Amino acid sequence: MDASTIAAYDRSVPRYTSYPTAAQFHGAVGAVQHKAWLGDLDRACSTVYLHVPFCARLCWYCACHTAAMNRAESLGSYARALAKEIDLVAEAVPGMMVGQIQWGGGTPSQLGAANLVAVAKRLAARFDRRSGSETSMEVDPRFCDEEHVATMRDIGVDRVSLGVQDFSAHVQRAIGRIQPFATVERAMGLLREAGVSSINLDLMYGLPHQSERDVRRTARLATLLAPERLALFGYAHVPWMRPNQKMIDDASLPGPAERLDQSEAARQVLLANGYVGIGLDHFARPDDPLARAAAARQLKRNFQGYTADRADVLVGLGASAISRFPQGFTQNAPDSASYQRAIDAGGFSTVRGIAFTADDIKRGAFIERLMCDLEVYLDPPTLADAAPRLADLMADGLLTIEGRRVAMTAVGRPFVRLAAAALDHRLQAVAARHSAAV
Ligand code: SF4
Repeated sequence: MDASTIAAYDRSVPRYTSYPTAAQFHGAVGAVQHKAWLGDLDRACSTVYLHVPFCARLCWYCACHTAAMNRAESLGSYARALAKEIDLVAEAVPGMMVGQIQWGGGTPSQLGAANLVAVAKRLAARFDRRSGSETSMEVDPRFCDEEHVATMRDIGVDRVSLGVQDFSAHVQRAIGRIQPFATVERAMGLLREAGVSSINLDLMYGLPHQSERDVRRTARLATLLAPERLALFGYAHVPWMRPNQKMIDDASLPGPAERLDQSEAARQVLLANGYVGIGLDHFARPDDPLARAAAARQLKRNFQGYTADRADVLVGLGASAISRFPQGFTQNAPDSASYQRAIDAGGFSTVRGIAFTADDIKRGAFIERLMCDLEVYLDPPTLADAAPRLADLMADGLLTIEGRRVAMTAVGRPFVRLAAAALDHRLQAVAARHSAAV
């Protein structure tokens, strides 16, 4: 594809980890709605997500809801708020059945062993864990020592996601995160010894001073560690939203065509090493549940990316956490102080959300299938509405429309978010808030 075509599509569009996207949430949906939607839950299994918005220090490239926090007192009071929120949910949904528990952040282990164990005990005491359920955790390899791994084993973590980004020393210096290959290798060894059965590695392209050679080498080294899964994300440079990214010089960033080449180079290395491509940016061993879900067209997409988790309900706990109910989304207060104040006062901290319309549910299902399967069968009204907005992508060979089937071509796969945007009725003049499309 020529550079001018790539540049023409270098637009800001959402990542479509949800529909409606978080940019559409508003303050008319709050704690009252959150509690009511919890109360309406039936006996179906829910997934619980716990957000820990703290890290030892901030990486320059980070776009997560997190802050540097090392004070034991503050970490302890946040853990107590999480435990109280678990009680509030359990009171609203007595005997709530829980399939997966997902710890994300930030760096969940930053809470410390005693706090993690206390929260995990409260989860076990107040919710009905299903057999075969899983507990996953995002882990920073720089802080993954014997003690941390022992705590993870105590609280039943069996899936781990490790942030790698790039193994090259000059890229690590440019993103404020020094983490040599040996550090990741050691963390993986400890996790494997502790019986963690599934490890995901997050890689990144589009980072400052990163070349295609760096990306290819990182992908190759990552495969030597034999993770079950890998994710390959494009760096999103949004310093106006994330002040820590101001440490990164705009001029050091690869342009749209280089980003596309980097993403493709890493993809080819991973495919050549036996991984199968899943959706836009994930890879897995062919026998991994994620690959099997993709092959069966049962893959789902949530705020953590692609998942084989079948639960329709996600209960988010902690600052900024988002919950998904059959009726809509709710989001907790974004900063940990407001979150804790609300919880300490005895109520939920929900500050915004959105109730689904029938059109949202229909379009959300279409967008999820397109993002997961890279193809979707639309109903005639949606197709008629979207076709004019898909015309350019089709003319440039990035997608095909045959009957009701809209499918990304092989070369068009990285542009799937642009096709999803054509189905997004709510997308308004918020382009600047989102990251680059590829
Ligand atoms: S990249 Fe990970 S470790 Fe670094 S600041 Fe963000 S959440 Fe924390």
